[in-house]
Amino acid sequence: MKQLQGMVWGIVASQTVCVSANANSLEYWDFDVRQNRVEIVTNGDVRPKAQMIANPTRLIIDLPGVKLGKPSVRQGNISRYVNQVRVGQFSPYTTRIVVELGTPYSMRPWEVKVRSLAPNRWFVQLSDFQPHHVYSLPVEEEPVAIAVPSPKPYPTTYGRSSGYTVVIDPGHGGRDPGAIGIGGLQEKRVVLPISLEVAEILRKRGMRVVMTRSGDSSVSLRGRVQKAEQANGNVFVSIHANAVGGNNSQVNGMESYYYSSGYRLALSIHRNILRKVRVVDNRGVKRGRFYVLRKTSMPAALIEVGFVTGSIDNRNLSNPSYRQQLAEAIANGILEYLR
Ligand SMILES: [Zn+2]
Repeated sequence: MKQLQGMVWGIVASQTVCVSANANSLEYWDFDVRQNRVEIVTNGDVRPKAQMIANPTRLIIDLPGVKLGKPSVRQGNISRYVNQVRVGQFSPYTTRIVVELGTPYSMRPWEVKVRSLAPNRWFVQLSDFQPHHVYSLPVEEEPVAIAVPSPKPYPTTYGRSSGYTVVIDPGHGGRDPGAIGIGGLQEKRVVLPISLEVAEILRKRGMRVVMTRSGDSSVSLRGRVQKAEQANGNVFVSIHANAVGGNNSQVNGMESYYYSSGYRLALSIHRNILRKVRVVDNRGVKRGRFYVLRKTSMPAALIEVGFVTGSIDNRNLSNPSYRQQLAEAIANGILEYLR
């Protein structure tokens, strides 16, 4: 593993809210500075309402029937163009997200694009920043409604019509062997066959699968993210193997990582591995600031399948039938998440 972990940018605020049994609640939201858009994920179906209002110019996104279930959140000084994003409970059953624009930036209401990935997943895309672009909303306080399309339905089958694209990212490769364990076992050689097997299983289930590498090639972290973005993936799953230094061969086990919207994906894969594979140690599902998790715009998870430096994991990871079991569990976790 051991990827470069740089500065956070892009995501300025993300909130994960516990799932309550009955009510529809806001599971996740994020204002992505780089992509200049708001992402919204709720537990159940939602039809957002969007409007713009002047003085100060702000975009208001209401989520009818959605409970925030926690105190309001306010993020200031987000960028030169966006002063503030606020998320609060507007009325007992409506959560409101307010994006307050900065003075050097103006936007016409019809330039705001609301897009649905599923009835519980929406993007609100602000227009590009244009320095000489001057537009003022009418001064009177009448809000201007923004058109919201019908939501894209949840895919019901895993047939080719499901439209899901899964990006599988086998860690390292080429010049970069990744971690090197007992007997010279290289991480890149462990994760590739697992990844290829995951891809094959998913393809048989009708998914479109894009690999960031399918052979022993060098791909930069940036290149991996670019491939995922170009493929317009619905999920991104990075597969790695772990290592510890200092002859700690007693350290074995698997762990899974997410950064923001990938929590449920990571959890689903992690649980499926624990269910299917005899794992020495469950090291948990954790938040990790890995480049590929932070820079991908889709739900993303990184799975550390075991320690190449661990005496038991090393033996298991060298065994094709163990790797096959891992691959099946990872594929099942992805399928379960998308279901
Ligand atoms: Zn790695």
